[in-house]
Amino acid sequence: MQRVPPATSFDVLVVGSGASGLAAAVSASRAGARVALATKTTLQACNSAKAQGGIQAAFGDDDSPEIHAEDVMRSSHGTAEPELVQVLTSEAPAAIHWLEELGVAFTRSNGGYRLARCGGASRKRLLQVGDRTGHAITKALRDAYEAGAGVVLAHHALTELAPGASGWIASFRTKDGASRVEAGAVVLAAGGRCFAEAETRGELSTNHPNATGEVTRIALEAGAEVRDLDALQYHPNGGAWPSTMQGYSIPETTRAYGAVLRNADGAEFTDSLGPRDAVSQAIFDEVETGKGVTTPDGRPAVWLDTTRIALEDAEISLPYMLRRYRGAGIDPLEEPIYTYPVLHYQNGGLVIDERAETTLEGVFACGEIAGGTHGRNRMMGNSLLECTVFGRRAGKAAAERAWS
Ligand SMILES: Cc1cc2nc3c(=O)[nH]c(=O)nc-3n(C[C@H](O)[C@H](O)[C@H](O)COP(=O)(O)OP(=O)(O)OC[C@H]3O[C@@H](n4cnc5c(N)ncnc54)[C@H](O)[C@@H]3O)c2cc1C
Repeated sequence: MQRVPPATSFDVLVVGSGASGLAAAVSASRAGARVALATKTTLQACNSAKAQGGIQAAFGDDDSPEIHAEDVMRSSHGTAEPELVQVLTSEAPAAIHWLEELGVAFTRSNGGYRLARCGGASRKRLLQVGDRTGHAITKALRDAYEAGAGVVLAHHALTELAPGASGWIASFRTKDGASRVEAGAVVLAAGGRCFAEAETRGELSTNHPNATGEVTRIALEAGAEVRDLDALQYHPNGGAWPSTMQGYSIPETTRAYGAVLRNADGAEFTDSLGPRDAVSQAIFDEVETGKGVTTPDGRPAVWLDTTRIALEDAEISLPYMLRRYRGAGIDPLEEPIYTYPVLHYQNGGLVIDERAETTLEGVFACGEIAGGTHGRNRMMGNSLLECTVFGRRAGKAAAERAWS
């Protein structure tokens, strides 16, 4: 693998090294394209690697891609784009098998995948790699990309995108100043903006500091269309105490494996496995009406009663979460934990078609930067899936576009 590009011209330029950018880069590279993968800081830095809970795909005997699609449409309150949802759910099983071929070892039990039911889902559909699913997926994709001929441009922050003679010209801020890359096609995979948005609002966020959203603005300036950009998602279960866990996203799988939300009186006040927006709103309302609790440092919260999780489920599917809390002096299997919603995900983004092409010819988008697949309210586990399904599609289509 070359770390220094031999030229500033490539067939395909991918911007961003999260799951979607890596999937696109692997896919374009395997299609035979000369690929450059540019990323703001290091190759490892992204939100995707922080994802713990899992990835959805209809593998259960009582499940199907159609039922998965119905769950997505219902959770989005009818705002998701049906054509994109159909692609997402029908290609989900193949995407899982592709990840397995690249080395991702999904947790298994009783001869099949260990499937959990996540918020808004009517079936058990969430595959997991313990509770480090995003880490496992990004590592496998990185290894696959680095084993090929693709180039890595680390510490390249995109600052501008402009049409060129035979494609697009991308300008970057680098450690040494600035650089420009020409490409027949570009895949934008630079994620969402919830870290920056939380800073502006003075709130906590689960996001990586690189989630600042400037690439969406750059695409807008180049003429791309966006949708649902105002629809930001709160993760219902941000860690609220101890202070070292503030902003930590307590995996939704805690609730899939039996944890429930309780108010100050110990009463359950909502369906703990409802869609994310409904559960977050129920917590906000409970606190608003004075039935919440207060953390030792004065923050609003409710209880997540994790003591109901069976030891075996916790050890198989929540080991990282347990380690983090126990390391901070709290055993979630012995006592409930403080939780409050925290800014987590950008639901909307660049308008794309089924091939992941934006409204700009030769510019593709995948992952959190793209809009439509989740409408205004994403279900848990569908983002890593979107990254894989549409990342693969974007990489392949970009390679074809670069040669056309
Ligand atoms: C804590 C946490 C837990 C989650 N858990 C789950 C889960 O269990 N299941 C699930 O499906 N989803 C989960 N999600 C959501 C999901 O992980 C993300 O939405 C998804 O991985 C985003 O992938 P991405 O490739 O679009 O962006 P990211 O992974 O955020 O990657 C974006 C990349 O773009 C780079 N970049 C940014 N700006 C620029 C620039 N100007 N120039 C160049 N590069 C740039 C960044 O450095 C980064 O490499 C979770 C998210 C978080 C934060």
